[in-house]
Amino acid sequence: MPGPVARRTRLSAVVNSSAYELLKDAIVVYLVVTRTLKVFRHLRARGVTETVVDFWKWISQEALLLALRLPSMRKRVSAELGKATLDLEKGMVPEGPSVHRHLALPMTGQSPEWIVTEMEAMDHEAPGEHADWREGKVSGAVYHGGEELTRVILAAIERYALSNPLHPDVFPAVRKMEAEVVAMCLAMYNNPTGAGTTTSGGTESIVMACKTYRDWARAVKGIREPEMVVPATAHAAFDKGGAYLGIKVHTIPVDPETRQVNLKRVKRAINANTIMLVGSAINFPDGNADDIVALGNLAAKHNIGLHVDCCLGSFIVPFIEEAGLGPFAPFDFRVRGVTSISCDTHKYGFAPKGSSVIMYRDAELRKHQYYVNPDWVGGVYASPSIAGSRPGALIAGSWAAMHYMGRQGYLDSCKSIVSAARTIASRIRAEIPELRILGEPRASVVAFASARKGKAEGVSVLEVGDKMAKKGWHLNALSGPAALHIAVTRLTVPVVDQFIADLKDAVREAQLSPSGQGTMVRLYGIGSGSPVGSTMVGHLATAFLDTLYKA
Ligand SMILES: *Cc1c(COP(=O)(O)O)cnc(C)c1O
Repeated sequence: MPGPVARRTRLSAVVNSSAYELLKDAIVVYLVVTRTLKVFRHLRARGVTETVVDFWKWISQEALLLALRLPSMRKRVSAELGKATLDLEKGMVPEGPSVHRHLALPMTGQSPEWIVTEMEAMDHEAPGEHADWREGKVSGAVYHGGEELTRVILAAIERYALSNPLHPDVFPAVRKMEAEVVAMCLAMYNNPTGAGTTTSGGTESIVMACKTYRDWARAVKGIREPEMVVPATAHAAFDKGGAYLGIKVHTIPVDPETRQVNLKRVKRAINANTIMLVGSAINFPDGNADDIVALGNLAAKHNIGLHVDCCLGSFIVPFIEEAGLGPFAPFDFRVRGVTSISCDTHKYGFAPKGSSVIMYRDAELRKHQYYVNPDWVGGVYASPSIAGSRPGALIAGSWAAMHYMGRQGYLDSCKSIVSAARTIASRIRAEIPELRILGEPRASVVAFASARKGKAEGVSVLEVGDKMAKKGWHLNALSGPAALHIAVTRLTVPVVDQFIADLKDAVREAQLSPSGQGTMVRLYGIGSGSPVGSTMVGHLATAFLDTLYKA
């Protein structure tokens, strides 16, 4: 029997053995190689200049965070933030003796009449100026399909108000309608043999696509540190998906003239960990579409996913050619390499808010979207998307809207909306030399920036946005470059002339008497591009979210 001493010597023999040394070296080499590879891939994707700029931003942000810990700084910042928060509250939260606050359940239930009366009161007590969406002065936001369609949707919602698609055996009609909503979208996007699911909106559709590719890449390619390559103009939902799901996002700049993603940069960003590419048709900021054919070729070549975001293109882009509005570059499942498409029924499909569709090339890919837990104490649990219980009423509402509209209805709405958007673009080009249109938008969104590029003094487009707000218009502000956009809806169509007239006035006023005090100038003007600016805007945005929940 070996004693303790003998055992210890044997152990030290092992520790000193060359095998152990070899293992140690191997681990060190492994770590150095993987870390270097990571840095190299990052450098290749972003380029040296951008990496240095990123690094500089990071340092400045860290320095700022440190500085913010100084008591004097902290006091100043919190005073500033406190002021801004108060402004936010003044703008959103009704005040005064006439305002009823409902902060706890009433002891006994209220009558149906009381409830309606109280809602009427709340509609009128909100502080500040509010763009009335009925006048057509709000960009996007309300995708109205007409009074009769609203009644059709309400009837569907009423009929299925209490349904829950989690239980298809109890609500067979809702199951059928959901499958048909997906099938109708697949047919519209030229993939009748494909597969998909409904979701609660564009963001969920996109996050689900990210999850699908992450799990597909893990299962099929063994990728553990997934990355995706996303145009700078793609929707923030991809960043949100990346943040939720642990996927590294490479944001690729777009060509300043065409506003299409820079393909050379996309190529450089693809590596062995890439799970998916993204293209938009059309994108939210400026309404342009990426080169989907080229992206599809890249995706096919590297055997990775290509998600085409048609959340906004939804029921416009598939109808442009048929509506006689000229060619539109290929964007759907007919393009080689396109593996998924998101399409918002609740945008130009005119379905009730809270409904979208995510489509895949085939059912095999869709399986990676599912969540299945066979061992749950509560029973076998299987659900297609993030939600468990879901509103069947919204599915019925979407099904009803799609049947009410039909192909002809969507063709007509496409024609009037796209024509209005193109009129806006061509009239700005012809009549307002102070502004320029971003890219060549061919669908429903038009974005415009100051005609002068760079630092040269042109009209401040954010100031123009604030002047437009004074005239009741609710436009979206963009950054990189500073610009405004309008997403044309059916409500905008009759007020195009007024839009152009007001825009001309707003440009003149912005040049003659800039106030520098409007919301856009103040929020976007502090420079969301600089680290300090973006930290402050982040704080403000958080305060905004807090304010939403101020009863
Ligand atoms: C609106 C939109 C989304 C996200 O849609 P939500 O329904 O707001 O979640 C995604 N992509 C584009 C291009 C959009 O315009």
